[in-house]
Amino acid sequence: MAEPGLLIIGASQAGVQLAVSLRTLGHTGPITLVGEENHRPYQRPPLSKEFLRGSVTEEKLIHRTGRFWEDNDIRVVTGERIVRVDKDADGSGVAHAASGTTFPFDRLALTVGARARDSGLDGSDLPGVLSLRDADDALELKSRAPAASDVVVIGGGFIGLEAAASLRSMGKRVTVLEAGPRLVGRAVGPETSEYLLKRHTELGIEVVRNARVTRIVSGGDAVGGVQVDGRFLAADLVLVGVGAVPNTELAESLGLDCRDGIRVDEYAVTSDGVTVAAGDCTNLPNPFPEAPDGDRIRFESVNNAIEQAKVAAHTLTGDPRRYTGVPWFWSNQGDLKLQIAGLSSGYDRALVRHDAERGRFSVLYYRGDRVIAADCVNAPLDFLAVKNALAARSTIPYDRAADPAVALKALTVGT
Ligand SMILES: Cc1cc2nc3c(=O)[nH]c(=O)nc-3n(C[C@H](O)[C@H](O)[C@H](O)COP(=O)(O)OP(=O)(O)OC[C@H]3O[C@@H](n4cnc5c(N)ncnc54)[C@H](O)[C@@H]3O)c2cc1C
Repeated sequence: MAEPGLLIIGASQAGVQLAVSLRTLGHTGPITLVGEENHRPYQRPPLSKEFLRGSVTEEKLIHRTGRFWEDNDIRVVTGERIVRVDKDADGSGVAHAASGTTFPFDRLALTVGARARDSGLDGSDLPGVLSLRDADDALELKSRAPAASDVVVIGGGFIGLEAAASLRSMGKRVTVLEAGPRLVGRAVGPETSEYLLKRHTELGIEVVRNARVTRIVSGGDAVGGVQVDGRFLAADLVLVGVGAVPNTELAESLGLDCRDGIRVDEYAVTSDGVTVAAGDCTNLPNPFPEAPDGDRIRFESVNNAIEQAKVAAHTLTGDPRRYTGVPWFWSNQGDLKLQIAGLSSGYDRALVRHDAERGRFSVLYYRGDRVIAADCVNAPLDFLAVKNALAARSTIPYDRAADPAVALKALTVGT
């Protein structure tokens, strides 16, 4: 009987990359990529941006088109939710889908991602209260948006702000309610938060910080508004963007170590020593120890899903490579193109490069003399210069970097 081969559970950014990288590395064994969604594997980032605004179609989101999967002999199964996995000590076993279908495997990979965090608010289950994690969420948002006038976005993080800017560009009155004192408070520094606040306000979005939302209120058949800070805010659409929770249930049922994600080592191997995991579902050793963000970290980004999946592919082909690299991220919010290189946590000083005339804004973060990260808005050259400096273990002198007339690349020096 033919060997069952590798089973990858979760058919999105990390799962797709893992399958593709295995073939690129010459792996010839059977690969099955199984996902619960009723869509061919697709890219998530446009859901809150171009897809929501209508400037790209669903077809354009698809990861690999044409005969790619057949040509590469990768079996892609959609619409099958794995609910149980039986695994032996050698790493082989059988996965059971909710439909009753079974998927035997010699080796297992978990790329199960994350799901939208539940706000826990009363009224969350009303029609018209949505989250935005997958294509079905985006399709529902798109179908409800034309009839909506007032949209409340709960959460001033990346996805909330991206969707707010998209919905504003579609002519909606948009209010963003952020529980913390500043926008995207966990990922960017105060200067960047202030800049985002200013620019979103200029777009005509009302942003309320330190907002205490107490409940979501019915308006009859569907949502009617939100109770916040003792006042009622009318809304015919509420988008909840309060973060994501890693999908660890399968891993936990297998006895794998899970704490804020499925714990993996720098080779993407889980605590059983054979199963690999990659992407949003994992908690991994910080691949960029220059930033003292703690020894371990969980990234929700396309870059991490891709790079960690490549590492997992090397592990599975018996040519292990450590995961190291400069983390980076992007977030397009209307005409704001934010790019982040490195990790800013643990910085001891920051400087702002602001070219108001050209609408460019960057913040560089330092620890001692070393640049460790940058938030760059509409400043792709600053982003590239810092990303390259970080990769080369170089720096950009603090006392000269604030002048926006001087290219950062020209200032970069070895350390
Ligand atoms: C709206 C939106 C916008 C984003 N924008 C950006 C951006 O601009 N830049 C950026 O870097 N990142 C962005 N991200 C984050 C990025 O999309 C994620 O980091 C990336 O998708 C992670 O890939 P993943 O494969 O690890 O997980 P996911 O994309 O979450 O995929 C996991 C898959 O596994 C499936 N699955 C889970 N459990 C099971 C099971 N038991 N059985 C079968 N299938 C299962 C899920 O249904 C899902 O399809 C955005 C995310 C969203 C939601």
